[in-house]
Amino acid sequence: MSVTAEGDLRDGLSAAEIFANSEGLTYNDFLLLPGYIDFTAEEVDLTSPLTKKILLKAPLVSTPMDTVTEADMAIAMALCGGIGIIHHNCTPEYQANEVHKVKKYKHGFIRDPVCMGPENTVADVIEAKKTNGFTGYPITENGKLGGRLIGIVTSRDIDFREGDPHLSLKEVMTPIDEMITAQSGVTLQDANYILEKSKKGKLPIINGSGELVALIARTDLKKARSYPNASKDSNKQLLVGAAIGTREADRERLKLLVANGVDVIVLDSSQGNSIYQIEMIKFIKKTYPNIQVIGGNVVTRMQAKNLIDAGVDALRVGMGSGSICITQEVMACGCPQATAVYQVSSYARQFNVPVIADGGIQSVGHIVKSLALGASSVMMGSLLAGTSEAPGEYFFSDGVRLKKYRGMGSLEAMENKEGKGSAMSRYFHKETDKHRVAQGVSGSIVDKGSVLRFLPYLQTGMQHSCQDIGARSVAILRDMSYSGDLRFMKRTYSAQLEGNVHGLFSYEKRLF
Ligand code: IMP
Repeated sequence: MSVTAEGDLRDGLSAAEIFANSEGLTYNDFLLLPGYIDFTAEEVDLTSPLTKKILLKAPLVSTPMDTVTEADMAIAMALCGGIGIIHHNCTPEYQANEVHKVKKYKHGFIRDPVCMGPENTVADVIEAKKTNGFTGYPITENGKLGGRLIGIVTSRDIDFREGDPHLSLKEVMTPIDEMITAQSGVTLQDANYILEKSKKGKLPIINGSGELVALIARTDLKKARSYPNASKDSNKQLLVGAAIGTREADRERLKLLVANGVDVIVLDSSQGNSIYQIEMIKFIKKTYPNIQVIGGNVVTRMQAKNLIDAGVDALRVGMGSGSICITQEVMACGCPQATAVYQVSSYARQFNVPVIADGGIQSVGHIVKSLALGASSVMMGSLLAGTSEAPGEYFFSDGVRLKKYRGMGSLEAMENKEGKGSAMSRYFHKETDKHRVAQGVSGSIVDKGSVLRFLPYLQTGMQHSCQDIGARSVAILRDMSYSGDLRFMKRTYSAQLEGNVHGLFSYEKRLF
């Protein structure tokens, strides 16, 4: 009870009050005041809608950026109850194949194992270990997945061979006749049984012609756990999204994505309130009524109205808040993220259109704040970049293991030097644009390990945060916010300093 015999004991302000004047706020500018706890953190239900028709057990979305989401990330996101949106800085065929990998994913099977050929050398294996972190490689005739399996090289085969870096793998590998393999079509349960009995580290899966189709690793088996919250469709396949632009050519891309089973389409634009996007929304809703469409990006109610009227199933909110973003500086356009999320969410809820808070999420606290402001899910870039599931190889700088993370509006991404195909349309307005104006930067992020460890940390953190607030579920958190029971408090600059580690000579910040 907040209003008692002693009067109104509610401290702070309601969401409506804190956003009443038009000053732009962002996540660090306020805190949520704690409530009353009469439940455990584990009981907190994180279920929340992504779109009108898709409900996620964990409201976490990986962004369609080429250094964040391809199949590996999308699989990990969906296994943990969220969803990944495959980027489109690539050919339609490449993107559709990434969607295909997610839809065809079977837990436990490595569908694209790194392979070597007989002429590769011990030095190649040592080098590959530095980037991949493991030493077990199947050897196929042509050095590729799909080639005929002729052997395997593991750490035991190359131990003590460091002095012979030029030795070819055909001289050190364990040949096929000394290996245990399984035939394609084998169930995960049977494959695991074979692996367990064989006492080997890897179990290659081959087809009737002896060609390698997949691999199972003992280390994965040891880590294997079930994912009861996985986001799945009615066929029990993982959910996946894909981003497209709004040009004529994107209709062909869309067709290919739909043919490969995509569940949700994100119309990827930094300023979504355009005739091109409105036409595309109407086209998709008419042509593929079962596909959910996320429109955006928007940061004002006015922008949101046009896309809601056109029929979007969710809105992506954020302009200029991303960690790699220079949009606000260059284009003079944008909106501080907390204000944008609050304003658009409070408008969109009248139409039952969920909001995805996109960009600027740096911590568990930011996630919970965005949900408290009315968002139904959060989209993350930098928080997920640098994980082993993010595309790209690790590299070292000053002894630190890093991965690249770049804005899709950076010159580097727009020029797309890696050759996965088409240049980004998100930051070009139309074909008539002759000169590029960068809206993002390119940088690097420290190795964060696997998303499969990081996402459970985020989820548990969110549960503890909701518990402190006194909200048993994300849905209740939002209700508390709109009823005025959830109290907000602005933080002065010195309050922000106080809320961070201070006064120590040195410290180590380990999060999980
Ligand atoms: P982060 O989670 O703070 O790193 O922000 C990621 C978000 O930034 C993405 O989901 C996009 O909305 C946005 N974004 C991606 N690339 C760019 C860019 O080059 N300029 C501006 N915003 C970008």
